[in-house]
Amino acid sequence: MTPTRREFLGWTAAAGAAATAASTSAATAAAPATPIIDTHVHLWDLARLRLPWLEGAPELPRAASWADYQKAADGLNVVKAVYMEVDVDPAQHEVEARLVLEQCRKGDSALRAAVIGGRPASDGFAAYIKPLASDPAVKGVRQVLHGPTTPSGYCLQPSFVAGVRLLGELGLCFDLCMRHAELGDGLKLVEQAGGTRFVLDHCGNPPVFGGLDAWKRDVDRLASRPNVVGKVSGIVASTKGRSWKADDLAPVVNHMIEAFGPDRVMFGGDWPVCTLGAPLRDWAKALSDVVHDRPAGDQRKLFHDNAERFYGLA
Ligand SMILES: [Zn+2]
Repeated sequence: MTPTRREFLGWTAAAGAAATAASTSAATAAAPATPIIDTHVHLWDLARLRLPWLEGAPELPRAASWADYQKAADGLNVVKAVYMEVDVDPAQHEVEARLVLEQCRKGDSALRAAVIGGRPASDGFAAYIKPLASDPAVKGVRQVLHGPTTPSGYCLQPSFVAGVRLLGELGLCFDLCMRHAELGDGLKLVEQAGGTRFVLDHCGNPPVFGGLDAWKRDVDRLASRPNVVGKVSGIVASTKGRSWKADDLAPVVNHMIEAFGPDRVMFGGDWPVCTLGAPLRDWAKALSDVVHDRPAGDQRKLFHDNAERFYGLA
């Protein structure tokens, strides 16, 4: 790895065509050498699903199909992928789940499994999730907890905890996607639902350019619980509007690997939300650059093996 390539790995929205071209070609040399399981792929078809939050994100594409994902992942060896729910209008959770499960069943793509939407605290949660849990492609549930209308402490209400415990009984995991200041709530939830496996989305949404001390402490606490794995995803989207390079992401990535250990971290592309900070390829290549000096086996665990084991995708 040369300093020159490292310089080029940064991606700047305002950098202009020449710099972007340099970034792309230089980054090609740094493509992860391992096969990839992308544990966090969003797909949406606005003709069939309502995504109210997307109205406030005009930078994101209005359509995100599997074919679009394949174009974005061109040059990366994505061998399997896991769909991540897209925060649809809650009335459409079942529609969303059925759509993605149909796509998994077709078997004509790398899409193998899904983390579907759901509202663990709602009265109808058990009736919603139990039939879906019997589909082997359903691996877990996520409810985004960092939306502006979701107060801190929301995930600690007894009905929410009960819903998350039910997931464990059904063999499903729950994705923690929350503000970094509220990771302590996440820890309390994990402690109260010891029979459920959790995935910490987006490294716990750290302030990539800010102080990491409090985040590191909270990640250490979460990582000390054996039923939590860390998803290395999302951090490029949080650089939105700022120039960044692989070195800027390194403290977060390295702390995730140190805290969880090489066997409990998984790569997530977070396409197309990642495009707020970088094309999918540049994010994957920047991550590959950050872990370049680690043992080849550990790199393969991060990009492939851990996800295969965690989700049972062998
Ligand atoms: Zn995402």
